[in-house]
This record gives sequence, C-alpha cells and structure tokens, in this order.
Amino acid sequence: MRGLASLGKHSSSPPSSTQPKRKLGDVLADIVKTTGPISVAAYMRQCLTNPESGYYINKDPFGTEGDFITSPEISQMFGELVAIWCITEWTAQRRPQRIRLIELGPGRGTLMRDMLKAFQSFAPFKNTIVDICLVEASPTLRTTQHSTLCDSAATETEDGFSSVTRHGIPIKWYINLKEVPTDVTSFIIAHEFFDALPIHQFEHTQNGWREIMVDYSVRQVKTALSLPGQTRSFDEDPKFHLTVLPYYTPSSKIGPESSPRYKNLPVKSKIEISPESWDVAKELALRISEQRTPKAPTGSGAALVIDYGPAETIPVDTLRAIKGHHFVSPFEEPGTADLSADVDFTALKMVAEQEGNVAVHGAVEQGDWLHALGIGARATVLASQQTTPEGKDRIAKEYHRLVERSGGAMGKIYKVMAFTPRGTPTPVGFGGGVVDQSNDDVE
Ligand code: SAH
Repeated sequence: MRGLASLGKHSSSPPSSTQPKRKLGDVLADIVKTTGPISVAAYMRQCLTNPESGYYINKDPFGTEGDFITSPEISQMFGELVAIWCITEWTAQRRPQRIRLIELGPGRGTLMRDMLKAFQSFAPFKNTIVDICLVEASPTLRTTQHSTLCDSAATETEDGFSSVTRHGIPIKWYINLKEVPTDVTSFIIAHEFFDALPIHQFEHTQNGWREIMVDYSVRQVKTALSLPGQTRSFDEDPKFHLTVLPYYTPSSKIGPESSPRYKNLPVKSKIEISPESWDVAKELALRISEQRTPKAPTGSGAALVIDYGPAETIPVDTLRAIKGHHFVSPFEEPGTADLSADVDFTALKMVAEQEGNVAVHGAVEQGDWLHALGIGARATVLASQQTTPEGKDRIAKEYHRLVERSGGAMGKIYKVMAFTPRGTPTPVGFGGGVVDQSNDDVE
C-alpha cells in the first residue's frame, strides 16, 4: 500500500536528482543546434509532457488561478449531462451488464466526479460499472484526480495505480489507452484531450509538400559600441520560430499524401495533421466494434469526444499557447504555457469509420448538444434551488458560458462527436431520441 504521493512516482516520473533543473528552452535549443529543426509535434510533445519540465507534468493549470478553465470546471451541469448521455446510450444499446468508464485526460477529475454523482440516481446503470480507467500523462494531475475521487489510498499495480472511488467503484490509472483492458464494454469520454495531442504542420510549395518545423536562432542585438550594421549575438536568449524545410522528409512524403483531402490542395496551402490523434480515434473505434456478443453483433459501447476545432475544414495555423488566461507566443519559455491546436473532427471521423465498424455522429456544436440533453431544464431547477440572487445569477452565467455562440462562450467553438456501434440507434444530442430496449438486456 502506498500513500497519495506515490501516484506521482509512476514510470514516467523523472529519476530524482540533486542537479538543478535545466530550463526546457535550453534543452530544446541544444537539440535543435545539434540535429537541426524539430517538428511542431516533437516541440509540442516536449513542451506538454516532457517528464521533467512538461507543462502538464508538474502543475495544475485549471481554474481562475490557473491558465485556463474548462466546461466541467465551469459548472456541474456539464458532467451531469455527459452522464445522462451515457445512460441514454447504454439504454439504447440494450443495457450491457458489465461496463467500464474510461476518461482520457481527466484534468482535476471534476467531470468524472460530477458524472459519478449523477449516476447515483440511476442504480441500474451504476450497478453495471465494473471499474473506471483514467488515462493521464501527468503525475501531478493523477494525484489531484485521486484526491477528487477517492478517500482510500492508492496501490501500485503492475501497469499503473489503483484505488476505490468514494462510491465504492474500483478505479485505475494508465498512461496510454492501449494499456486499458478490453474485456468489457467501454464508455469513453475525451474532453479537451485531443487538442493537447501533437500536430505536424505542412505547406504545399512549388517543389511539393514540405514540413514546417521549429527552428532556433540566437537573438541578434545591436550594441552601443558596434559599428553601423554590425551585430553581436547573445546566446542566453533562445528564440524559437517556425521555418519551412527546403527539402522533403519522410513525414512530408507520407502525411499530406495520406488522404485526397490534403493531396489535392493547391500550392501555398497549409495543413495541420495529427497522426497521434488518428491513432487514438482508431483505438476508440476498435474498442467499440470488437466488443461483439450475440445480442450486440456490431459491437458495444460508445466514445464521446468534446473539444474545439472545425467540424469540416482542415485546421491551418492553429498552434496556440495560453498562460494566465491570455494568449502568448508558443515559442516563449517552452513548457510554461499550455499548447494546443484545433481538433480536425473530420479526420477523426474518417479514421474511425475506416478502422472500426462504428457510426460517427457529429461533430455538432456544444450549445446544441447541451440543449438536446436538457441543459435549459437543468439550469432552471438549479436556479430555483438557489436562495440568493447571486446564486441564481451564477447559474445563469454558467449556463450562458456553456451554450452561447459568441462573446467568448463555448457553445459554438466547442464541438461534440460520438462513435457508436454501426446499426444502433442515432444517439441523443445528434438527432436521435431516447430509446429504451430494457426488456431485451445484453449479457
Ligand atoms: N478533461 C479535463 C482536462 C483537459 S486538459 C478538463 O476538461 O477539465 C488535458 C488533459 O489531458 C490533462 O489532464 C493532461 O494532463 C492530459 N494529457 C495531455 N496530453 C496527454 C497525453 N499525451 N496522454 C495522456 N494524458 C494527456
């Protein structure tokens, strides 16, 4: 049995050392100086999940005190409605009797906490949950999730950590979705997970597709003593910037050629692609479609992806950095700001449909999806339970922030997409109604 702190000592943790930590910017500058420019994907991966200095590894970035705020952190309504969606989908799929809840990138664990609370009112669903599996790269956030969801200590297992939630459900932590067992039906949630996965950028030049890379140069500063036009360089101020490689690389040959969506774009076009996201989408689709039983011949389970990005077009130039609720340069002080990029929902859909026997629904706008799930009615109930005008006002503000389409609200920018087994009813929120096949339970 190990204490809570042990959640931070999983295999991805750095070995403890008495050496002062080098700044990630210096480490990356040395790499670029030695090997030449690195891909945007490699840069993002280092900035976000470098085991020693990655942004997510050592800090809790959420909330008003942190760098950004997410929908589950804004209101309990969000987690409640995601929970209701899972229940409607479970009912439509003839109530599979053993299910696993999986969340990718659970942050503080707030979404899972609110979902579990909502499930308490639906015993037939709650009783089918055999365990919860959280996929999380950050030891710091694993510890936060553990304290949000559990009272009991965490135990180290062969493939990660495990504990029991306050509601008595076994819970386990993993670093990669591929490690999560596939023996029972999975209901998988990915909220603001895909936008953190690395992207590659390419430009279609006269000479063919070329990768846009991250280069480093030493700042050139004119000094007071220099002759006109002469400069002196200062090595201590690394400057990273994007550069189009003049020659092709294996990834510029393979990436843009991988789909007619990219291949036929005119010269000067730019694209962003995320093979890591494709890999996760494929894993989700296979997990659902390979869970076949006589009563669920096309598979069982569902995945819900909620994130920002265009529903149809290919993302271009969307790499961004956020620190203290403001946009900053992605190239300043690597590892200290959240880096993300728009999710290419069409690419996820294409991969999922091609690799698994799933139907893909959406992407629809978050505001529409939440309305279809009943956020209006839920906000009214919550507001009526408030005893002060401030309380009522707070619920109204939360509601508007989640559903409105402009003014920095999340209703339009954020999209929702679902993968379900082919041949099962269209899910709620994507044009379908509530379907109850309760008299015909699946084993
Ligand atoms: N879903 C949460 C947190 C979103 S932030 C919310 O909406 O509030 C992104 C989350 O994904 C963080 O928990 C981060 O640590 C995790 N993450 C980022 N890259 C990851 C990776 N490659 N593998 C596993 N987890 C990752």
